[in-house]
Amino acid sequence: MRLVVIGGGHAGIEAAHIAARMGVPTTLLTMNLDQIGQMSCNPSIGGVGKGHMVRELDALGGLMGRLADRSGIHFRILNGSRGMAVRGPRAQADRVKYRIAARNALEATPGLRLVQGMAACFRWEGGRLEGVELQDGSFLPCDAAVLTSGTFLNGRILIGARKVDAGRAGEPPSTQLADQLRALGLRCRRLKTGTSPRINRATIDFSRLEAQAGDPDPRPFSFYGEGIHLPQVPCHIVHTTPETERAVRENLDRSSMYGGHVEGVGPRYCPSIEDKFVKFPDKTSHQIFVEPDSLETQEIYLAGLSTSMPVDVQERMVRSLPGFEAAEILRPGYAIEYDSFDPLQLTRGLAVDGLPGLWFAGQINGTTGYEEAAGQGLMAGINAARWLRGQAPVILGRDQAYIGVMIDDLVTKGTDEPYRMLTARAEHRLGLACDVADTRLLPVAREVGALAPAELARAEAKAGRRARLHDQCREAWVTPTSPFGPVAAAAGLSLAAGLSLFDLLKRQQITPDLADAALALLEGWDAPQPGWEPAAERDLLLFEARYQDFHAREARILAGQRAWDHVRIPVDFRVEHLPGLSNEVKEKLQRHRPETLGQASRIPGITPAAVTLLHLLIERGA
Ligand code: FAD
Repeated sequence: MRLVVIGGGHAGIEAAHIAARMGVPTTLLTMNLDQIGQMSCNPSIGGVGKGHMVRELDALGGLMGRLADRSGIHFRILNGSRGMAVRGPRAQADRVKYRIAARNALEATPGLRLVQGMAACFRWEGGRLEGVELQDGSFLPCDAAVLTSGTFLNGRILIGARKVDAGRAGEPPSTQLADQLRALGLRCRRLKTGTSPRINRATIDFSRLEAQAGDPDPRPFSFYGEGIHLPQVPCHIVHTTPETERAVRENLDRSSMYGGHVEGVGPRYCPSIEDKFVKFPDKTSHQIFVEPDSLETQEIYLAGLSTSMPVDVQERMVRSLPGFEAAEILRPGYAIEYDSFDPLQLTRGLAVDGLPGLWFAGQINGTTGYEEAAGQGLMAGINAARWLRGQAPVILGRDQAYIGVMIDDLVTKGTDEPYRMLTARAEHRLGLACDVADTRLLPVAREVGALAPAELARAEAKAGRRARLHDQCREAWVTPTSPFGPVAAAAGLSLAAGLSLFDLLKRQQITPDLADAALALLEGWDAPQPGWEPAAERDLLLFEARYQDFHAREARILAGQRAWDHVRIPVDFRVEHLPGLSNEVKEKLQRHRPETLGQASRIPGITPAAVTLLHLLIERGA
């Protein structure tokens, strides 16, 4: 029972850590141990949708939230003034310290061995995975492997017309492994992403920039970590000028993208600065975030200025920004193209169909982003470990986690462009608020054995206390003469007939302060307990009370859909012979190979009528 995880990026870290934590002897094989946890692009973790996944990872024993807390130097809750469901925690992470924190965490994980080397190919014998051959000729025996090779498979960097084979700037690509996977018949396509130039801090005139402070009371990502310790620093904002636009437009044909040198498809939601000026011609100026890269170095990252222009044009663009007139580029931006494999070839547990013992996670599956990679890495690690122990895979539902939404999207619909998590991708957003990820995912954490005993005890205690609080609020009765009467009166409500405290909290007139006054009357409301923050719990309660009716309606709709997710499509179901289904539906079912009726229903082009018919045919055993 041996697992090898290939790749020490964000997916690989989570896969290796969780599998070892689950008791499976695990080896993390990666090209360069010093690059474990490297953030290839911007030094930040989280955001809306992405931050939700970081909290989910944490709830399931993942590392990303703790690493971000340990290395974070600027924390903000995005969408702080909007509804709780779409608030997203985000942090600037110190790139150097993040890497060290990741390495330390892995080195401290019992049962996990780190090995530096490059995987060249997998070896199967008689339908069983035997191990991984390394480029140096050595062999790592294993029974299962998780491949998390990021942008390295046949990676090629582009700066203007210059092309260099590389997995990331300064690191070699992985070609042999990519060639073996193609030769095995896996469907592959080229995707592309890009990054921004890095600037010498000493050459920027910060007095010309708009400062953006982090939250005064920064909140950590992790439910179980040690909190935030590093000094907090500001970020800055600058805007492109007409000269930036001129520099781009006058040189468009010199960029890799517009000069015709790129074949891969790029991420829609992280466009290059070239793309921004071309695709949004009415917008004459774009915001650029000036982000500290590390407290240890003088490097500054320019988020929003991703580019594949030649270096001289990058210099002109950078110096066109106010305050950057004398700026020096330390590392130029670049685009990178790489092989990614069609995720429709994966099971819902992220195992590769037809290649026993192999799982894929991260950028290789067509996603972009550290958090997306980490979410998949965690699930692939859990499921590879479970497979080795003869257990069924754990599948997170779309109503349970953003990670579940992402994996279901990938393996059901596939993706033609780098996939990034957005809250709009989830149809059940109300139930997926990131602050309750610990309680929401507790049953899964318990089943998987993902949390350390002390963490599990803490999660159980908090979930129990939340449930008790709900009971207390439903039982407490508010009348003008009850202890809660003055709160209702202060809100201008005359409630002669009385109502439960929970129903009182639904009223918009109940401000956070009034809610605090009411909750203070409940026994034990603010008794100290690890992880219990009364202000956050009050906000959560107000959110739950106010959206309860929506939530209940959503839950009813969900119950129907969830039932479909339990209707399994038999493996030997011969779609081509099914009566009554159109050729288009048959084609899509053959291509996407859904495992359940629920998955089939989510394939674009599969009509409700086709789902009903399919259901009948499955029940009849057609
Ligand atoms: P990675 O973090 O890339 O890690 C892959 C790991 O696998 C590395 O440690 C590598 O050494 C190892 N490896 C590869 N092949 C082998 C092998 N054969 N043997 C041993 N080890 C191997 N994301 C965004 O969200 N927005 C962006 O704008 C953005 N821009 C990017 C720009 C660039 C230039 C790059 C390179 C990435 C960008 N990303 C961006 C993507 C982000 O970096 C990735 O999504 C994320 O790092 C993917 O994590 P991963 O674990 O899948 O792979």
